Amino acid sequence: MHVLVINCGSSSVKYQVVDAAGGDALAEGKIERVGAEKSHADAIGEVLAATAGHTFGAVGHRVVHGGERFHDATRIDEDVIAAIEACVPLAPLHNPANLAGIRAAREALPDVPHVAVFDTAFHVRMPRRAKTYAIDPAVADAHGIRRYGFHGTSHEYVAQVAARFLEHDLADLRVITLHLGNGASACAVEMGSSVETSMGMTPLEGLVMGTRSGDLDPGVVLHLARALGVDATDDALNRASGLAGLSGLGNDLRDIQDRAEAGDDRARLAINVFAHRCRKYVGAYAAVMGGLDAIVLTGGIGENSVEMRRRILQRLEFLGVRVDEDANRDAKVSHASPVADISEARARVRTLVVATNEERMIATKAAAVAAGIKQVKAAGPIPIAVSARHIHLDRAAMDLLFGDGSELTEYKPLSQPGQYAAAEKLTIVGPRGRIEGVRVLGPLRRSCQVEVSRTDEFKLGVDAPVRHSGKTEGSAPITLEGPKGTLHLKEGLICAWRHIHMTPADAEAYGVKDGDFVEVEVTGGPRDLTFGDVAVRVSEKYALEMHIDTDEANAAELDRGAAGDLVYEDIVGSTASLQRKR
Ligand code: AMP
Repeated sequence: MHVLVINCGSSSVKYQVVDAAGGDALAEGKIERVGAEKSHADAIGEVLAATAGHTFGAVGHRVVHGGERFHDATRIDEDVIAAIEACVPLAPLHNPANLAGIRAAREALPDVPHVAVFDTAFHVRMPRRAKTYAIDPAVADAHGIRRYGFHGTSHEYVAQVAARFLEHDLADLRVITLHLGNGASACAVEMGSSVETSMGMTPLEGLVMGTRSGDLDPGVVLHLARALGVDATDDALNRASGLAGLSGLGNDLRDIQDRAEAGDDRARLAINVFAHRCRKYVGAYAAVMGGLDAIVLTGGIGENSVEMRRRILQRLEFLGVRVDEDANRDAKVSHASPVADISEARARVRTLVVATNEERMIATKAAAVAAGIKQVKAAGPIPIAVSARHIHLDRAAMDLLFGDGSELTEYKPLSQPGQYAAAEKLTIVGPRGRIEGVRVLGPLRRSCQVEVSRTDEFKLGVDAPVRHSGKTEGSAPITLEGPKGTLHLKEGLICAWRHIHMTPADAEAYGVKDGDFVEVEVTGGPRDLTFGDVAVRVSEKYALEMHIDTDEANAAELDRGAAGDLVYEDIVGSTASLQRKR
């Protein structure tokens, strides 16, 4: 399918025709002086004239701000246009231009599906703790103040390319992506999801950029606003700061590097401030994710500046980052050859330079929406079970906690074949609190895992990541107290990612596959609820059932029965139906 990708700015319209299957750009161009000399409709007319030989299966529109509503590419209709319009106060320069392009293109190509691909979408599911600013929630709500994040299409694309290069599933990796161009942002991609990003409510926060300051004391903004007025402060921080402001040389790092080489102190300081800020974020994001598998550098600076890469990546050996100087110097990436590995062979963390390609990502997403793969087949309802807090043990832990050679006693079979709730219980202890009588599940596993809810996590005083079962690397520590001993696990505490178990035959019936994410509408309780981001798990060994934790069940007011320690308790009368694929 050929996709017309449109990136409509306030003064220019960039376009590409992309073959969605192979990702090749078949045509591209830029219409300038939009707004002043010609309207967006005129510019779209020029785009269509320039691409006249192509037949489009979809038009993909880059949209900067999707607010809280859009967590994926979305087919455009009047309702979606109204929602993008509602985000104009959050992106007053960008969204009106994006909308002008959408309106003109829809009018010119009324029979082709138009799809909005949002810069913010990849970050919508960030944990609340990452997207919440520490201000009065009433003020935050009234003004839409929270971390939205930007550059999502690029962060997601380069993380996927890196995972493919490393021959790993992105869902197994913790990656820091550094998009360093004229705009710059960092993103912590944990198991495929954005869990932190440096741009915030606006693209001004975070890293040093071409002309934007990035992080500074909010008191500085107040101080400058009082001294200069609001508009002059906006100008100072957005257009006269960053590399340009620090160096006094404009925003092109190549010029600044040349001047630094020649001994210019301001140019040197600009480079040092830029690199220091990036390195600071790498450390912070490794801490946020509890570990690190790869760093990805992209954008004009990340892809091209050998010197900036070297400065950012120095003194990170303690994290397992080791850069091969020769590989760094020789790294050349392009759309045709998008990855260069610049790490030493013995480095625990891989450091990759990846050529970003937002147009390709937009085309892929637009083609997927247009092809309608989001429609899942309608099959019957899915039983729901609520998973209370519980523990999986390995052999060594069993020996230590219950005595050498001890065995679990089956107390009650669970719905998944071969699984059972054991009679044995343990106390789990965190730095702040303890929870007694936590059920152990059998049979024994290859490694220990403790699954709690967000409420439990707060009581224990630990920061448990939301993870798929079995993905405990870099998760939270927890102490287990048993009748015969105490075991301190360095990692293993998680909040379980909501999921559906099903057999291959079920998957066929629902039109999904292992690893898909679906939305699930839960009905039958007093407060019907649609759960997003539900992982599909397919195996011959499973029985069809959706698992949610107690907090999630409470949110939908599903009755989980009187006995709080029961695990995987079936809920009579509550079923779920699949809505659509992500
Ligand atoms: P982008 O916004 O991703 O197109 O990045 C543009 C920026 O990348 C330019 O303003 C330059 O600062 C930087 N850049 C591009 N090529 C080089 C290079 N060879 N060395 C250093 N910086 C570069």
